[in-house]
Amino acid sequence: KLSKRLESVANYIIEDSAIADIGSDHAYLPCYAVKTGLAKRAVAGEVVEGPFQSAKKQVQNEGLGDRIAVRKGSGLEVIEAGEVDCITIAGMGGPLIASILEDGKDKLTGKERLVLQPNISAIAIREWLLKNGWKLIAEEILEEDGKIYEILVAEKGDPEAPYHHLEKELLFGPFLMNEKSPAFMKKWEGELANWRKILVNLEKASGSEENEEKKQALQKKIHYTEEVIQQ
Ligand code: SAM
Repeated sequence: KLSKRLESVANYIIEDSAIADIGSDHAYLPCYAVKTGLAKRAVAGEVVEGPFQSAKKQVQNEGLGDRIAVRKGSGLEVIEAGEVDCITIAGMGGPLIASILEDGKDKLTGKERLVLQPNISAIAIREWLLKNGWKLIAEEILEEDGKIYEILVAEKGDPEAPYHHLEKELLFGPFLMNEKSPAFMKKWEGELANWRKILVNLEKASGSEENEEKKQALQKKIHYTEEVIQQ
């Protein structure tokens, strides 16, 4: 059975599409998408040999070799431009997902839907989307086994449309901040407690210029977070 996290990612796959799952590891997501009829075919991309082999094995065991191509390579280099309608990248840090998109820009035609699931620092993805003309169309936050995950869905379009207070919403997510679900509250209450501790330590440390800058940046995030969770 698929994890709640990957099932939630799958919910945003366009029906009857061709998908590419980048950093697929065991290829659970493309196998599920093809088996359930959500995707008609899929590419599973993996850059590391071990996970690449487990993806191949999984696809073979499930008898899906005619509809899922397992390819070895970094990021979007495993697909041709226009080959897929939907790209999923899940279970990595936001900065890594953003760098995969940045490095693979020439493979994006603008017709794809991007379904991205960062484990941390979703802000790096929102910033990339904003800079590159992709419009955030949905967000989800969920908790599984005590961990909190975010899902960001984007399509080519006006990248500024979802934002009202850019700096704040890049951090929290415009949809998530509006919805304020229990998982959202839990995540940011945790971050807030953590940042407050770091701030206390910075205040104890020497007042170097670098420290001052860090303190100010942290104070700003603390202030924003207090505002958002207390409203
Ligand atoms: N997507 C799966 C999931 O969400 O359960 C697997 C997540 S796993 C933690 C991250 C995978 O991404 C690893 O198997 C790693 O080898 C792969 N990976 C990391 N950087 C990559 C890149 N640039 N291109 C393709 N795969 C990459």
